[in-house]
Amino acid sequence: MSAIDDLPPLREVIATHGLSARKSLGQNFLLDLNLTAKIARQAGDLSESDVLEIGPGPGGLTRGLLSEGARKVLAIEKDARCLPALAEIAHRYPGQLQVIEGDALEIDPLAHLTPPIRVAANLPYNVGTELLVRWLTPPRWPPFWQSLTLMFQREVAERIVAQPGSKTYGRLAVLSQWRSDARIVMSLPPGAFTPPPKVSSAVVHLDALSGPRFEADATVLSRVVAAAFNQRRKMLRAALKGTAPDIEDRLTAAGIKPTDRAEQVPLEGFCALAREVAKG
Ligand code: SAM
Repeated sequence: MSAIDDLPPLREVIATHGLSARKSLGQNFLLDLNLTAKIARQAGDLSESDVLEIGPGPGGLTRGLLSEGARKVLAIEKDARCLPALAEIAHRYPGQLQVIEGDALEIDPLAHLTPPIRVAANLPYNVGTELLVRWLTPPRWPPFWQSLTLMFQREVAERIVAQPGSKTYGRLAVLSQWRSDARIVMSLPPGAFTPPPKVSSAVVHLDALSGPRFEADATVLSRVVAAAFNQRRKMLRAALKGTAPDIEDRLTAAGIKPTDRAEQVPLEGFCALAREVAKG
């Protein structure tokens, strides 16, 4: 019996189902169920939410989410070897766990979820950033999710919460902070995982705001920010040359010095610039 439920400990689950970790799938498992329950608690009150989990693996975080009272968990897992272990959890929590086998980058989970929806995941490193950017840039806002509680490599987590003037400030910070509150809520050493990854990890929690902090068109803002940080050591008038005609005038109209570099520009400045660029 485990610390949080009456299912077998995760080491036993892994041995029973032959779930040796595969590097190609970004598999670094959390085996301490007290820790996964703690991560689940960072996601907020789950009792009235459906939770979307990407990459449940042997089910450590899944069990944390369910033991913390999640109304329903929809878990998307690419590795078919994990399905029997997940079926045992579904049996323990009847009607509360649905598992879809497949690639989270290709599956639209929304048909299986009822709002309010929270996302919680110990993300596979190879797809984590791409999923985050998709969740941050939907066609309409507010998005389908109320909050995201996500494990990243520490360095990626720092890029999400970075402030202007820091080396880690870039596209992820601007897109994350434009329409959500983002903060690091936990830090985990490599030894928390089996096998241990090379670097430390951190859990980031993002709450979706009802609207943007500053008005801007999402597509234009993404384009401007991507171009600005693509050549982050150049002055903005050079880095943004191909973005719009008369870019120096637009930068000035947005209150930005054309000789500034991207990492000096606060969120408000990028939104003002996106509005100037959108004028055509
Ligand atoms: N949630 C488990 C835990 O905390 O122990 C496993 C986390 S492990 C870092 C990442 C998981 O994502 C693995 O189970 C892996 O098979 C799965 N995965 C990798 N790529 C995926 C993808 N594109 N779609 C869905 N799952 C994926």
